[in-house]
Amino acid sequence: MRFALFTLLIFIIASSASFAQKSFHQNKVIAHRGAWKANDLPQNSLASLKQAVELGCEGSEFDVWMTADGVLVVNHDADFEGMEIETSTYEQLLTKKHENGEKLATVEEYLKAGKKQKGTKLIFEIKPSKISVERSIEVAEKSVLAVKKMRAEKWVDYITFSYEGGLKAIEMDPKANVAYLTGDKTPAELKEAGFFGFDYNINLLKQNPQWIKEAQELGLTVNAWTVNKEEDLKWFLDQNPDFITTDEPELLLKLIEERK
Ligand code: MG
Repeated sequence: MRFALFTLLIFIIASSASFAQKSFHQNKVIAHRGAWKANDLPQNSLASLKQAVELGCEGSEFDVWMTADGVLVVNHDADFEGMEIETSTYEQLLTKKHENGEKLATVEEYLKAGKKQKGTKLIFEIKPSKISVERSIEVAEKSVLAVKKMRAEKWVDYITFSYEGGLKAIEMDPKANVAYLTGDKTPAELKEAGFFGFDYNINLLKQNPQWIKEAQELGLTVNAWTVNKEEDLKWFLDQNPDFITTDEPELLLKLIEERK
């Protein structure tokens, strides 16, 4: 009897948790820097990740820089609240806070939060260093090591503007999904180099729509950033992409629902 009650209690706790989803959503929606806009949350905050999870996005994107003392942290801009990340120590950066009171998350803290659920993938952008290409490669190497250490491989897809960083990530984990952002490589070049796909600017893809078909024929994934206007979302949905990166996940979820 006592065992049955215990089992029931565990079941109730597990099923009432907000992170009860058991497999990753497949709705193409990647919340760009988390789902921040509708609720005015700080971009790249743990709160914006949580919101993307609650919306049921397929992925939540975030950006990673390395501090002067080698700590990987999550932020979009090169500076955090006015303090340059690459030339500041982690301790120095802790003197600043997000507007909602959160501190600057380390990659480990971010991955730990993301791993509490299994519905939303973590789209890990390896930011190119402003200091050197060598440093970009080091950020890529440390990023893959951090993901492996946290056993978060199943959750993580990588994206990067750094071609060299992308190649390093592929070398470090040949099974990793690494997509390229810059838009200066053809699908054939990306395939040859071992990339998973591209995530290119929507305007570039509108000018070169043949790249979408080429990528699909090569078995590469197709994604675009940052698709916010309804007409662009509809145009891109018509191309049957794998993912769409947007600041408007609620709108995109609604458009996709309408097409079912
Ligand atoms: Mg980004």
